[in-house]
Amino acid sequence: MDILALTLDELGAFFTAEFGKGMFHASALYREIYKAGNRDILNIPEFAASPAFAEKLEKRLILAPGQVLSTFREKNLVKFITGLSDGLKIESVLIPMAGRNTLCVSSQAGCRMGCRFCETGRAGLKRNLSVSEIVGQVFNARFVLGEKIRNIVFMGMGEPFDNFDPVIAAIRIMTEQKGFDIALRHITVSTAGLVRGIDALGRLNMKGLRLAVSVNSADDATRSFLMPVNRAHSLQTLKTALQNFPLTRRGCFLFEYILIKGLNDSETDAIKLAEYIHPLPVRLNLIPLNAVAGFNYESPCDDDMQNFAESLAGQGVFVVKRWSKGRSVSAGCGQLGLEC
Ligand code: SF4
Repeated sequence: MDILALTLDELGAFFTAEFGKGMFHASALYREIYKAGNRDILNIPEFAASPAFAEKLEKRLILAPGQVLSTFREKNLVKFITGLSDGLKIESVLIPMAGRNTLCVSSQAGCRMGCRFCETGRAGLKRNLSVSEIVGQVFNARFVLGEKIRNIVFMGMGEPFDNFDPVIAAIRIMTEQKGFDIALRHITVSTAGLVRGIDALGRLNMKGLRLAVSVNSADDATRSFLMPVNRAHSLQTLKTALQNFPLTRRGCFLFEYILIKGLNDSETDAIKLAEYIHPLPVRLNLIPLNAVAGFNYESPCDDDMQNFAESLAGQGVFVVKRWSKGRSVSAGCGQLGLEC
């Protein structure tokens, strides 16, 4: 049984079914693993009175977060590569933000969405990650890199809604109070616009979980050029799904917009985008394009970015400019996958 794939209740049920034990022992094990990173089952105090049980348990449980193979640093930002059991590699990025670390996790090895501005998309999909491979990235950040994690963003390799059930199961484990205890409102799932995933997430009604959408153009032809997913799920279909999504009273969507010189950064683009956003509650992140091999476009200069942002703000859009971090170690937006 793979412990990084279990909620506390599931672990308790496993203990009861297999060993006739209950939540007392399950809680102790969960605490040791998720709070302390202790992999030594035989030395858990609550198990001292039943060493035979601890030995049997040790044989049945697997704890396999993957192996951190290498780390790349740019100031405080850390990109780390994890080797999986079948030899594949995935990337995760730890982003420090005023003592509130954010971990950007991968949901797939590769990705089949094929966004042109993205290194991961260029390589195609190798496979989906399992629940424990997703949770394992948090485990490694916490106990191998030694960093506390406050926020999780599913913005690493892969389209989270293309691996829906394991992503949701991993979120349930990350939020477990006796485990990592990461608040749901501190977790963001970012999609390229897979409408069936948005609808399915809406039905789960996970209050507080944040939804980000990579938009990048409010023009169907341009967006389809940049993101093939738009051919199947047009901007209007996407907007309808978002309008039907059950946000909390003060909730908003996070829209990501990668600015590309001469392609989506004109005044007309800004007007179209503001029209598209209205009346959705949106916080818009503007991100300058990062260099990706085979995509021969550039990011606009700072002044042009500023003009784009001001135009949107003037039309009532809440804009955040996110100057890319991690470019020097290929950890910026769209750059993951180079080392895999
Ligand atoms: S941007 Fe996201 S959805 Fe698009 S190819 Fe890259 S990883 Fe996949």
